Amino acid sequence: MTHAFCQATRGAVRRLPACLSLALLAACAVSQQQEVELGATSAAQIDTMLPLVRDAAVNNYIASLGNQLARATDTRGLAWHFTVVDSKEVNAFALPGGWVYVNRGLIERAQNMSQVAGVLGHEIGHVTLRHSVQQMQQSQEVGGAAVLLCTLTKVCESGTGQAAVNVAGSALFAKFSRSDEAEADAEGVKTTIKAGIDPNGIPEMFRILLDERKSNPSAVDAFFASHPLAEDRIASTQAEIAAYSPNQIKGLTRDSRAFQSFRSRLLSLPPSPKPKAP
Ligand SMILES: [Zn+2]
Repeated sequence: MTHAFCQATRGAVRRLPACLSLALLAACAVSQQQEVELGATSAAQIDTMLPLVRDAAVNNYIASLGNQLARATDTRGLAWHFTVVDSKEVNAFALPGGWVYVNRGLIERAQNMSQVAGVLGHEIGHVTLRHSVQQMQQSQEVGGAAVLLCTLTKVCESGTGQAAVNVAGSALFAKFSRSDEAEADAEGVKTTIKAGIDPNGIPEMFRILLDERKSNPSAVDAFFASHPLAEDRIASTQAEIAAYSPNQIKGLTRDSRAFQSFRSRLLSLPPSPKPKAP
């Protein structure tokens, strides 16, 4: 696709239905501005579909932890958005341009701040490494990206917000390759360390989720669908951490009072809406 085509379509794209505009955007090399527009469009749709936690204390905390991590690694000056989805299922996902969503169910299962920070660091990594955008560009070549957002739009029009809990993080969202996942894990380790947070929260959270998969598999289905997770990811993140000198890791923050009150606050909120079949 020529640059001129991309220039010419850019204005037209805004006037087209979302699924078509995505198809056109994906056909061109995606600039940072387009990446942010794509993220903003998807985020606006997701915000109407998914039940979100609308509690000022919760939102302030996740934004502050997320920005602490993003600032440590983002070199493009993106405006980051961190949101807690009101779902008891375990999941987390990122949209191009800096939108990161983490489910209440994941946070409630974490024991300390570093475990949630590790998940955020991983999702931030998918954005900074531009996995989300690349995934859309690649899948466009086989028509997948248009289907992706058209499906999303259809769900928006026909389904209830609650139904969409089933959708987020499952087939609709990019399934990253194992190498993308490994890269995002490594990025999560680097980012947490740069932000002054203990990276051991990453393999710890994987352990919690793998254990949960044995006892309560449906609660972690969505997470495993979008994040292929196996014992080897625990081993490889532990190896990445071991490459640092113990002095670099010692003294990094593992937990905080602010995190524990954030988690208690979530636990005290009314139960999450039950997902319905779409
Ligand atoms: Zn991932």
